[in-house]
Amino acid sequence: MLKKRTLTTALLLAAAGPAMAFTHTGKDVDKSMFEGREIAPDPWADQCDVERSLVPIEGKENLYRHTNNTFPATHSGLVLIQDEGALVIDAGNRCAAEWLRDEIRERFDKEITLAILTHAHFDHLAGSSVYQEAGAEIIAQRNALEPIIGEKMPVAEPTITFDEEMTVTFGDYEVLLHHEPAGNHSNSMVQVWIPELSAMQCTDVCQSETFPYMDFLDFYYPGWIETLDWVIDKNPDVIDVGHYSPATAEDQVALRDYMTELHDQVLELHREGMPWDQLWRNVTAGNEHKDDWFGYEYMRVHNIRGMFRWVDNHRRGLW
Ligand SMILES: [Zn+2]
Repeated sequence: MLKKRTLTTALLLAAAGPAMAFTHTGKDVDKSMFEGREIAPDPWADQCDVERSLVPIEGKENLYRHTNNTFPATHSGLVLIQDEGALVIDAGNRCAAEWLRDEIRERFDKEITLAILTHAHFDHLAGSSVYQEAGAEIIAQRNALEPIIGEKMPVAEPTITFDEEMTVTFGDYEVLLHHEPAGNHSNSMVQVWIPELSAMQCTDVCQSETFPYMDFLDFYYPGWIETLDWVIDKNPDVIDVGHYSPATAEDQVALRDYMTELHDQVLELHREGMPWDQLWRNVTAGNEHKDDWFGYEYMRVHNIRGMFRWVDNHRRGLW
C-alpha cells in the first residue's frame, strides 16, 4: 500500500517551501518498540577532526556523495537533492552528520527529510540520530531493528521498514530498495538503486578494486553472490561502496570471480583434509590482484580465514 509522508514541522515547511510529500511502499514502525530502550554512550562522539566532503557525482544531476577525504574513507553514502529536501544514505559519526546537515542547509537551502540506513553495523549508522533530530524519516530493513535495540546502538530509530523490496518516490526520482533474504554482509543489508541516474548504493558488499573487509565478519556467502548478481544485472554507471572511492559494475564482476574462486579453493582443500595451517598457504585466489587492488597485505589472509570459517561451518563429510 502506498502511504503518504508529509513534512511535519513549520520550520521544515518554511525551509523547503510548499509542503511536498514523498511516497513509499514500506511499513510504518510501531514506535513503542523503542520505548525505554537503553542507549549506550557513543564511542565516536568526539571524532571531529576529520576532513569531510560532499562532492557532485560527475554526469549525475542532483546526486552527490558524502564522505571523509582520507583513503580508505571510513564512511560514504549517496545524497539526492530535490525540491522537497535531501535524501541521505548512512552517516559516519555525529560530527560528520552535523557537518553534512549544515552543509546541505548552506549549499542547497534544504533539510534532510529522508535517511536510508544500509545495514545495522555501527560504522555506517553512527551519527544518524542527527538526521532524526532534524526531522528526517528513517528507513531500514526490518532485520536492523533487533540489533539496533539489542546492541543499544546510539543511532537513529527507523520509522519505516520493509522486507525484500520497497520503492520510494522522492521528487522526480524512483528509488528502489532491495534486500537479499539469504543475507550477504549482514542480514539487514539494503541495496539502493536509482535507475534514472544509473546509480547504486551497495555498501560493504560491493568493492572498489579492494579486497573485502578482513575475515568476512557477519557473512553469508550464497546471498553475497546473489546480491552481486543482482547488482551486475542492473549494470550501474556508478556504485558507492560505503568506503574508498566509487566503483563500477566491472569491479563487481571481478569481485564475484575472486569470491567464488576463493570459496571453491577453500572447499576443495578442506575436502582434501588439509588443516587450516596448511590450507591457507595453498590458496591462490586473489594473487592476481596483489598489485591492482587495495588490501592484499591487510585483508587477504583474513579473507581466507573468513571463507574457511563459512566452509567449515557448512560442510559435512561422510559421517
Ligand atoms: Zn558493514
